[in-house]
Amino acid sequence: LFVSFEGVDGVGKTTQVERLRTYLESLGRTVVVTREPGGTALGSAIRGLLLHGVPAAAGADSDADVTDEAASNALDSAVVSIGTTDDAAVAAADNAAVAAANPADIAPRAEVLLFAADRAQHVAETIRPALERGEVVITDRYLDSSLAYQAGGRELTAAEIRDLSLWATNNLLPARTYLLDMDPALSHNRLQHAEDRMESAGDDFQNRTRQAFLDLAAAEPDRFRVIDASRSIEQVWAAIEADIDALLKE
Ligand code: C5P
Ligand code: MG
Repeated sequence: LFVSFEGVDGVGKTTQVERLRTYLESLGRTVVVTREPGGTALGSAIRGLLLHGVPAAAGADSDADVTDEAASNALDSAVVSIGTTDDAAVAAADNAAVAAANPADIAPRAEVLLFAADRAQHVAETIRPALERGEVVITDRYLDSSLAYQAGGRELTAAEIRDLSLWATNNLLPARTYLLDMDPALSHNRLQHAEDRMESAGDDFQNRTRQAFLDLAAAEPDRFRVIDASRSIEQVWAAIEADIDALLKE
């Protein structure tokens, strides 16, 4: 069973992923919890580039000053530690990387390809092997994030990004995708860490992304469940639990 969680930042995906993990384990299932971007070692390095830009000292002359070198070292260690599944460590590493990096513009097509590379490695190294062992895989973001953020948010063609994602994953789609939906202006306030490159992209970008997620869900009603994430953690979980129970009976 392959399940993904989607939605804009701060809607509570990580919390609900953990609730679902605990629940499925209580039913005797073996569960792999993972995330994009950054679910593998390669993905961790890509995550650092995507969220915080290119390290200041990368490609600089040998006379790069001490500050640049210190920043680069801080970023390197931050990026390495992002590989963990420990959320606190990820948040700490993201914060360190934000402080250290020199955010550079990443061209929209390069951004799409970096996310696709992260996803290709994620599927090959983590997701497919676990599914082949008969385990449950729950991922915090998957290819719908690319469709919502890189097409909805940045105005590239959804069809092209979808084709690229399906090529990268060799056509692997989740059996179920939970879209946790709420007003980005509200979910943004819940963020516990320093803003990354995407999170600071502004209200219009976040609103376009939210709408893109809703459009994706409307286009694939069998795979998606749209959950009102403005409610309490318990209420959101109750909706997911009821749906998962039904799904497991299918
Ligand atoms: O969910 P998480 O905070 O780990 O995601 C990292 C950032 O990458 C988020 O701010 C999200 O907006 C962004 N993202 C993106 N395109 C994707 C996946 C994530 O812009 N395909
Ligand atoms: Mg985030």
